[in-house]
Amino acid sequence: MDVTPILEHLNEAQREAVTASAAPLLVIAGAGSGKTRVLTHRIAWLIDVEGVSPQGLLAVTFTNKAAAEMRGRIESLLHMPVNHLWIGTFHGLAHRLLRRHWQEAGLPQNFQIIDSDDQLRIIKRLIKNLEFDDDRWVPREIQYFINAQKDEGLRPQHLDDDNDPNRRQQIAFYQQYQEICDRGGLVDFAELLLRAHELWRDNPELLAQYQRRFRHLLVDEFQDTNSIQYAWLRLLAGREGVPFFVGDDDQSIYRWRGARVEHIHQFQRDFPGASVVKLEQNYRSTATILDAANAVIANNSSRLGKNLWTEGGQGEPIRVYSAYNERDEAEFVIGKLRTWSDQGNARADAAVLYRSNAQSRVLEEALINARLPYRVYGGLRFFERQEIKDALAYLRLISHRDDDSSFERIVNKPTRGIGARTLEAMRSYARANSCSMWRAAGAVASDELSGRASSAIVAFLNLIERMAKETSGLDLHEQVDHVIQASGLIDFFRKEKGERGETRIENLEELVSAARGFQPDPAEEMSPLDAFLSHAALEAGEGQADAWEDCVQLMTMHSAKGLEFPLVFMCGMEDGLFPHQRSISDPNGLEEERRLCYVGITRAKETLYITHAEQRRLHGMDSFAQASRFITEIPAELVEEIRPRVQVSRPVSTARGTGRRSGGSISPAAELGVRLGQRVRHVKFGDGVILNCSGQGAHAQVEVNFETVGTKILVLAYANLDLM
Ligand code: ATP
Ligand code: MG
Repeated sequence: MDVTPILEHLNEAQREAVTASAAPLLVIAGAGSGKTRVLTHRIAWLIDVEGVSPQGLLAVTFTNKAAAEMRGRIESLLHMPVNHLWIGTFHGLAHRLLRRHWQEAGLPQNFQIIDSDDQLRIIKRLIKNLEFDDDRWVPREIQYFINAQKDEGLRPQHLDDDNDPNRRQQIAFYQQYQEICDRGGLVDFAELLLRAHELWRDNPELLAQYQRRFRHLLVDEFQDTNSIQYAWLRLLAGREGVPFFVGDDDQSIYRWRGARVEHIHQFQRDFPGASVVKLEQNYRSTATILDAANAVIANNSSRLGKNLWTEGGQGEPIRVYSAYNERDEAEFVIGKLRTWSDQGNARADAAVLYRSNAQSRVLEEALINARLPYRVYGGLRFFERQEIKDALAYLRLISHRDDDSSFERIVNKPTRGIGARTLEAMRSYARANSCSMWRAAGAVASDELSGRASSAIVAFLNLIERMAKETSGLDLHEQVDHVIQASGLIDFFRKEKGERGETRIENLEELVSAARGFQPDPAEEMSPLDAFLSHAALEAGEGQADAWEDCVQLMTMHSAKGLEFPLVFMCGMEDGLFPHQRSISDPNGLEEERRLCYVGITRAKETLYITHAEQRRLHGMDSFAQASRFITEIPAELVEEIRPRVQVSRPVSTARGTGRRSGGSISPAAELGVRLGQRVRHVKFGDGVILNCSGQGAHAQVEVNFETVGTKILVLAYANLDLM
């Protein structure tokens, strides 16, 4: 009955979705049930069988990487390129629209995207300029406030201060921040979405044109859309559009960034006659992994409820390792990775997942020592590195003189004798005359400043003008190369001592290569330099450039959404770390953490390791933690415990039991009656606390922090410690 190979390898429910008639449709299904696959096949089906032009489709994915992969799959299903298909993230698509319609959107043609660091810098400067107390007004909180309003589609004039002076001030900050951005032609991430929404809302003819063009709207990971994204989709869909959205309420993990899982319920109200397809067969994971995920998520109360099953075999048990500290944990992971790699498996098929970015450092160190290549996905981001941002700031200023955030970044970098007082004079001129720093610099230099300061400023202004002239007409990578040299950045970092300076220079050189390899979208009507700068700003929100080497993948659980790996490690599974401390006492927060855990578990296809540590040093602080409650939610029969090489029992806690963790069996150290955190007395050293244990039996050693003499390592059998 197949009319096209597009329907091969799809089950009944998947086919129903892929071939559905042109009416609103929502696919709600659990992890690994083929939602992304259905979306991809739907696009191929529409083009190949329904004869829809690729230009008539708009597809939204969660990351740029996912967009590139999806385009590749569609092309291989269709055996042809689909250049004119609009596929990207909400931010990427909004940006494209704003570039095309900058005039209608009220933006200068060469507007610049700023990332969240730039945004924070503007806010800090604002607080300082207004001479507010920075203890009372925390820049990050104001940033959060502004972005949260934008995510809800609200401008300062829409906001009511509720007679609350605090809120009144926040609104005032928002207002002034926006004025700075508008003056400089700066667009932050939240603004991209809000502007794109206003663009259509306020230009009905333009909207109608896009509504005619994009009849089919396809959205992946729909559960994580925020209000402004959903409003944008609804505008575009109008009465005639055909939304085809796929998502999983159990994988909604971005509430803290404004995502609203409620849109899943709202969808059926907003699009009357919409049908819903459920997919229940999981194709990704073994039955053991799936059962574990189902059991964990069953503890959440607010769910649509789904029943996922698999035809796959039971597979291996989930292995839980209790490490005694974060280094032991890393060693364990590296040992398993090494075996995996030695057995001839691809390293890229293994992923190490963690809750918070800071956890990667210890893992990275261990990987470096073991000489196992790895890649931090979404971690140390190329375009966010200091020297790269410096170079980009020069390029931005060349393209756009009124960009204050770039101006401030490089006016005195490399140092050229422009001091705080000169800067202050420029800032106050800019404030008083509502103009950019660039203009202020010109005015201040000729009127107000001393000879030396004035000539330093003039030299800087001339440098930028000269670079603009010298680079015009050059190829993009030649422009970049010229700027990193002529700006003095290369010389500046050459003077920085040691490896660090070298790395920075290498990175700058890498920027030239990035520019050489950069291919602007032919559909975009902007200069290659502007296209490259926008790309850099958008890309900075995501991963590093793809390394060609076969690497182990390191990433947070958040960035793992949508991906799958044969071998997965979930590290740092401790209460306080995961679930995160700030969510533990808040039922909604805890449920979101549990969904994140569900996302983590369901990334694994064949083998899943879960690790936790008795003691962990993170952010320079030591903590002793219980194994994560999520571990105890996995049915015991699915789990195999791996005993640490050294047994350590933990301080007796009044909290609930830690399930199958070291609970039952008695460890050698525990046999000797020693616990981490236990107070002891030594004849010679006095009172102390046990920090660590290692070795076994007669070789068992303890590390004790004594109040008077500091840390000592003692052989337990001879130490004669009195337990207190
Ligand atoms: P997530 O919720 O994690 O985003 P998903 O629902 O989007 O998952 P996919 O990534 O589309 O799921 O599919 C999971 C895996 O199952 C993929 O490897 C996919 O190729 C495979 N798969 C999906 N459907 C089928 C099928 N009918 N036959 C064989 N393999 C399938
Ligand atoms: Mg998916």
